[in-house]
Amino acid sequence: MHTSTLISLPKPVTTQTARVSAVDELTINWHVTEACNYRCQYCYAKWKDYPNPRELFHDHGHTRDLLIELFRYFHPANSSNPLRNELSWKALRLNLAGGEPSILGERLLEIAQVAREVGFQLSIISNGSRLTRSMIKELAPHLTCLGISLDSSDPKTNMEIGRALKNGKLLDLQELKANVHLARKINPLLTVKLNTVVNLLNVGEDLSSLIQEIRPQRWKILRMLPIVDASLAISDGEFAAFVQRHRAFQSVQCVEDNRDMSESYLMIDPFGRFFQNHPSLAEGYLYSDPILSVGAHAAFSKMAFNSASFQSRYTGELGGTQ
Ligand code: SF4
Repeated sequence: MHTSTLISLPKPVTTQTARVSAVDELTINWHVTEACNYRCQYCYAKWKDYPNPRELFHDHGHTRDLLIELFRYFHPANSSNPLRNELSWKALRLNLAGGEPSILGERLLEIAQVAREVGFQLSIISNGSRLTRSMIKELAPHLTCLGISLDSSDPKTNMEIGRALKNGKLLDLQELKANVHLARKINPLLTVKLNTVVNLLNVGEDLSSLIQEIRPQRWKILRMLPIVDASLAISDGEFAAFVQRHRAFQSVQCVEDNRDMSESYLMIDPFGRFFQNHPSLAEGYLYSDPILSVGAHAAFSKMAFNSASFQSRYTGELGGTQ
């Protein structure tokens, strides 16, 4: 799963008395599908205990209802939301993630349309494999941020990680660069973000040329999260060395170690439940009841949040939002 995105945020305004930080936008990550055309060994886009046999996006009515409920509950003016004790925000962004959201094809474009109608700002995080020119042309005008997950520029490493189609086809980096260029041309205000998951197979690599060519406004460097599989996990020192090797890109880097990811994202699974990761959850995630069954408030009240991590994410210490 290529975790989510950010646009540059203003410096937070913190009031001493209430200790509520103010930011421009709050991001809700909806992992629309578990399906993906890649097979990354470290992938943690695996959800359990399905409340329904089908993922929610298949149902147009439920999709719209979910987005309306989320927009209502996380609307900046809804002071009954407990998150307001930690943060205030001016706008809401829906980040479409997966699995691989672009494999939904036309349906993804419909969901993007509905999200915009409901009132969300919109972003996507994708492995890039299905972001064709025609999809970019339709999506780019709706997006504030386009996120691409890229772990390596070495075909052998990408193959070993599992970042390839079943037939062995790898991401064409020239095509990706052309599509990113096109997206920027269509939407000059677009933020382009790269996500790199540092793991045992790419930890020694130098990605500087790739970063220089794509020129992301944000580069999120995530330490592989050993939730589903720990076989590619790396040490503190290895992770630090990767970050240090790329210090020339410090101004766009957003570095997330495992503890930074804990209880600090707002995440919805493909079945319309909030879910959370935590380092102690060796067996996977914690889930709320389905939001459409109990309402966002009741579902959200089951979720624990690490308010320090959460605030940091949104106020810049972790490089802003997802
Ligand atoms: S691209 Fe890799 S990490 Fe992302 S959802 Fe697909 S298999 Fe998982």
